[in-house]
Formats: sequence, structure tokens, C-alpha cells
Amino acid sequence: MTVHGTHLFVDLRRITENTRRIVEMCAQHEIEVIGVTKGFSAEPNIVSAMLAGGITKLADARLENVLRLRRHGFTQHITLLRIPMLSQAEDVVAACECSLNSEIEVISALSEAALKQGRCHDVILMIDVGDLREGVFPEEAAEMLRTVLPMKGVHVAGIGTNMGCYGGILPTKQNLSLLCEIAEDLEKIAGEPMEVISGGGTSSLMVVAAGEMPEAVNQIRVGEGILLGTDATFARPIPWLNQNTFILRAEIVELKSKPTVPIGERGAPAFAEAPIIEDHGTRLRAIVALGQQDVSPSGVIPSDPAIKILGASSDHMILDIEDCDRTYVVGDMIDLHLNYEGLLLACSSAYIPHMYLRGQL
Ligand SMILES: *Cc1c(COP(=O)(O)O)cnc(C)c1O
Repeated sequence: MTVHGTHLFVDLRRITENTRRIVEMCAQHEIEVIGVTKGFSAEPNIVSAMLAGGITKLADARLENVLRLRRHGFTQHITLLRIPMLSQAEDVVAACECSLNSEIEVISALSEAALKQGRCHDVILMIDVGDLREGVFPEEAAEMLRTVLPMKGVHVAGIGTNMGCYGGILPTKQNLSLLCEIAEDLEKIAGEPMEVISGGGTSSLMVVAAGEMPEAVNQIRVGEGILLGTDATFARPIPWLNQNTFILRAEIVELKSKPTVPIGERGAPAFAEAPIIEDHGTRLRAIVALGQQDVSPSGVIPSDPAIKILGASSDHMILDIEDCDRTYVVGDMIDLHLNYEGLLLACSSAYIPHMYLRGQL
């Protein structure tokens, strides 16, 4: 089948394979893997590919994505990853079995909503071990638990942490051991064991694979590793996973040789800071049908290393193709790999149709 126009190609078989390898590796260390669906807006075909690889529980940061999953008939256990909005407490309880939390006010609203709906909602208390995104500091955890324990309708299912997202803090044996020590303290207060100790996302795979994950950690929440086979925090491909899972194939709409230095009086460009432009003479450039409405230039990596991205406005991305061995014509396609940022954006663009393949990418 020939596909025309800019498309996102998704290799479902490789995503299933990545999932299976991650699930099996973690199972050897008695760690459950939660499949994180926010990287691809919870697109049902990709969720199914994850489930085929052995995932049984799902998680997403956005309630809209969770509702999409429910509309498509996914009945799995779902955890909401972003701290629930106070204003959405009722919908969160109705759609999700569990949520990550760091605010008493929010947990109290979840409790009220759960009571009203005759449900019990699981909460994971988030502990900030240094990355400075969400979570209470270790010394505040006991106080938080004491406040939450008497609340009806919510059950403290455990504690968790997040790393590598704001401060770029790497998961290590040390900061994960700290999480486990907190769990022990909290177990004394609760008088029962914590069911879940959730030790981070894709970047924690490195710690598990090295055999350094503290034994008490029994869950990680993985998106990027399954989807792209990469680990942004450690800035590396994960050698035992597939990377060729998504390709953004963009159609060339203009092909012309132009000077490298713009002509005329320069103001600020519409979509980026004014680039520093060196004069490299006249170069062959391709404009592809893709823009900031679809993906940011920093989210894509041309699969031909001779191609350089010059910039993008809302609907045009400009590529320097002067050094390519291949000769292109207007209407040809240029393949772009995606990083996690690029994947998130491309999957939420309303303008890029998806093509699902099984092992042909
Ligand atoms: C996005 C997210 C994850 C998954 O992160 P990956 O790097 O994609 O594995 C896990 N936990 C939380 C709280 C998140 O927001």
C-alpha cells in the first residue's frame, strides 16, 4: 500500500517486543511494570501492543487520555500520574483506580468524591528525593500519612517517587534506598506493609538491570523505554531494546538552493529566537509539510545524518539536504526519528495521520 503525505509510522510488533523484554527483566527482580500511555495520547492500537507484551496495569498523566481508554473498552487498572486537579476529583475517582498524590487538600477531595460514589480510591504518596518536581520531602512524609490515614474512601496503597523530570536527578541505589527507608517508617505508623513502592520511570530501568534496585521497590512506571527504546535522562539508547519503533515520514513540498544568510533587514522570526546564521554560501534546502503545530525541531532527528534541521515555523520545517547522497524530488519523503518530546507532540497533533505496521519499519 502506498501512503501519501506526512504520516507517523508505528511499528506495533517492536513496541510489543520492547514491552516483553522490560516486563521479563523486571519480573526477575520481582518488580511490576506499569505501562505509561501519555507519550502517544493513549492511542488504542499502541495500548493493545503494550498489553500484548505482558503489561497488566496502565497509567497516564491526563484524565482525557484515561477517559479515551475507558471509551475504547480498556478495563485495566489505571493510575493517574499527574497530581489530580482539585476540580477533577470526582472524574478521577470515577475513571481511575489509583492516583499519585502530594497535596492533602486533593486527597481530601478524592476521599469525599469516593464516598459519594461508593468507591475506594487508591492513593500513592509521592516523595521528592531530590528532583524537585512533585512530592513531599522525606521529613514531611510521616505527617502526611497521619493526616490521610483517617480519611474514608481513600486507601494509601503505597509511596512513590519521580526522577529525571525537572532537576535531571538520576535514580541511584542511594536515593531509591531513601525511598525504602521512608516506606519502613510509614509502615510502622500505618501498622501494615506498603503494598506499592514505586521507584520511578524509564531511567530506573538502568538501576534494575544493574541489579542495584533495593529489594523493597516493587513497581516502576515505564513509557519511554517501551515506546522508543531510549532513556532521555541517561541520554542513551537502551542496548537491549528496539529503537526503530516510530518514524515520522514528511513530504517535501519545496526544494530549492538558497543562500544561508537571509536577505534584508532582520527582525525576530515568528517561532524561535533569532538564529545565529553563519554564511555557508548557497545550499540545497527542502521544506517538508510539518511545523511547530505538529512537532518541535528539537523533537526530531533526521535518519540521514547528512540532513540538518534549519528551523520550523507553524507549518513548514526547513532542512539542509545539500550533503545528502540521495537525490530528492518534490513529493519525496524524508524520514525523521523522534525523541520523547517529539513523540509526545507528534502524537497529539491533529494533522498527522498514523499508519500501524507489524515489523516492517
Ligand atoms: C511520565 C511519567 C512516567 C513515565 O516516564 P517515562 O520516562 O516515560 O518512563 C512515570 N511517572 C510519572 C509520574 C510520569 O509523569
